[in-house]
Amino acid sequence: MAETLFSKIIRREIPADIVFEDDHVLGFRDINPQAPLHVLFIPKQPVATLNDLEPGHAELVGRLVLAAAAFARKEGYAESGYRTVFNCNEDAGQSVFHIHLHLLAGRKLSWPPG
Ligand code: C5P
Repeated sequence: MAETLFSKIIRREIPADIVFEDDHVLGFRDINPQAPLHVLFIPKQPVATLNDLEPGHAELVGRLVLAAAAFARKEGYAESGYRTVFNCNEDAGQSVFHIHLHLLAGRKLSWPPG
């Protein structure tokens, strides 16, 4: 896959407000936040879209979800609630082709999403 700017964030070649990191996952605040808390959780191993996931990625995807949920709890949003979203391709508005789990919290989120 073509490299995206998220690989440059992982390598610290462009700045980001990193709030979480382990061996497999990086979490950083979205540069254009859509809620008081808006963090992106990305795998260090790049995968372009959800369509490119294979069974071997199951643990990695689980790690993204666990990291997002743990961060939401740590920030105090367990009770009030939060949303996690993967956008896939054009109709969903995916703009960076390195999968990322959005974590949004801190305001009432409408449904259905726009
Ligand atoms: O799901 P989608 O691909 O649209 O999300 C990409 C997200 O990456 C956007 O919310 C955008 O604000 C964010 N972004 C960022 N830092 C960058 C470039 C994009 O947080 N340097």
